[in-house]
Amino acid sequence: MTPFNELNAPRQLFINGEYCDAASGKQFDNINPATGASLGGVAEGGAEDIGRAVAAARRAMDDGKWATMGSHQREGILHKLADLVEQNAKNLALLETYDTGKPYRDALAVDIPLSVQTLRYYAGWPTKLRGETNPVAGNFLTYTRREPIGVIGQIVPWNFPLFMAAMKLAPALAAGNTVVLKPAEQTPLTALYLGQLMNEAGIPPGVVNFVSGFGGDAGQALITHPDVDKIAFTGSTGTGQHIMRTAADSLKRVSLELGGKSPHIIFADADLKSAMRAIGAAIFYNQGEVCIAGSRLFVEESIYDQAVEAAKTAAEKMRVGDPFDEKTRVGALVSAEHFDRVCKYVELGVSEGAEIAAGGAPIDTDGKGFFYPPTVLTGVNNQMRVVREEIFGPVLSIIPFSSQEELIAQANDTQYGLAAGLWTRDVGKAHTVAHAIKAGTVYINAYGLLDASAPFGGFKMSGIGRENGEDGIKMYTEAKTVWTSLS
Ligand code: NAP
Ligand code: MG
Repeated sequence: MTPFNELNAPRQLFINGEYCDAASGKQFDNINPATGASLGGVAEGGAEDIGRAVAAARRAMDDGKWATMGSHQREGILHKLADLVEQNAKNLALLETYDTGKPYRDALAVDIPLSVQTLRYYAGWPTKLRGETNPVAGNFLTYTRREPIGVIGQIVPWNFPLFMAAMKLAPALAAGNTVVLKPAEQTPLTALYLGQLMNEAGIPPGVVNFVSGFGGDAGQALITHPDVDKIAFTGSTGTGQHIMRTAADSLKRVSLELGGKSPHIIFADADLKSAMRAIGAAIFYNQGEVCIAGSRLFVEESIYDQAVEAAKTAAEKMRVGDPFDEKTRVGALVSAEHFDRVCKYVELGVSEGAEIAAGGAPIDTDGKGFFYPPTVLTGVNNQMRVVREEIFGPVLSIIPFSSQEELIAQANDTQYGLAAGLWTRDVGKAHTVAHAIKAGTVYINAYGLLDASAPFGGFKMSGIGRENGEDGIKMYTEAKTVWTSLS
């Protein structure tokens, strides 16, 4: 494990191709959640810095160097960026681990490769993004163009900091936009590190800018800035609603990827060995800090006891602790505040009548790290707050069902609609239930897969728009229809 100080991580804002301090000179303390100790100060961007970054992005948009660059050349630069992220995988994984508390092996095996995959996938799009000719009435040639929207404000959360940034940057850049991105206050390091890679890849100054800072300050300045054309956001549903309300004033485009309380369903006719094995990873991976976590496990009555046993075994088997220990499967929660939130939710569940089958009490570290063990709640029902609200921690609720109708009604009885998973050997039932569930992604005999080519996003209060795939790049374009008289 390389000590943090030897990584020489940039901790300044990245504006117009250069690292710089915040205009106010302020810094905020960045905490390593696995130790509770400070990793040092990070530039605290505010409204003035957002103003400078948006001005740089506007200039880089209007000078046309990026948007009208030949498509093959833009592809080459984006491929180079993907290669550079891959070459820097170790440093990026180390920084991600210091910042988030997640296991290093997961950062290296999942976060960084998914980021590279996303950058590569969209690097291929500039030569494929095309309009259409339209069969209109009359003697006209009518065609559409896919033009960039302009300056995009991107705001990302702390659970997969680099991957979330890649999911936002890659399609925006491939479509020819320019960007100001604000990372989450808890996890600014990998985004700031990308700044130097942007320069090395040959992305012109001002095309991508990173401003670390707080949501209520830098974030608020970004979502209200008149020169920002679109906000792309991933985070909590409450902040998403606030962004949408605020964007209404100037009709900024918005795309939102918000919370979830995803149903994970096991029918008695499933391949039970595989299904039971999937329960733990679906909820406890990344400390449960996953928007598509399978946090509500619905199991057919006849296999309820078996499922509780499997969940309990999975919870107790997963080693919690030092993220740099190879054997660790569950690292630290991202912050003291989030740790308190998870603790309170489990207490609330117990006061609502839930029973604890595994975990259920925080690990005492005397403030030196925020660890919560995988926790399984039984004796719960779909009306309890602990089952209705997103906890975003390693807490699973298990609920039995007796009929398919009852199951579908319960699975859909939520404000969210991000993902769902179901296990059965009956192919007709699998697709019937997959179609009946209101969610942006449904897994059959699998859980939690993501791929840059497959659309991802939420029904209902889990969001607006789809990232990844062709949908994901179209979200960063305006369609323009051009009519030409042929007579
Ligand atoms: P959050 O407040 O929604 O934060 C997400 C991002 O939005 C951060 O970059 C945040 O900045 C920024 N932000 C906050 N207020 C803003 C404002 N007024 N204007 C512009 N940007 C603003 O989420 P959180 O507080 O970190 O986490 C709370 C809960 O959100 C979690 O427990 C979980 O339930 C949910 N969540 C969901 C996802 C997901 O992937 N769907 C990811 C993370 C969290 P700061 O970091 O500086 O506050
Ligand atoms: Mg941190």
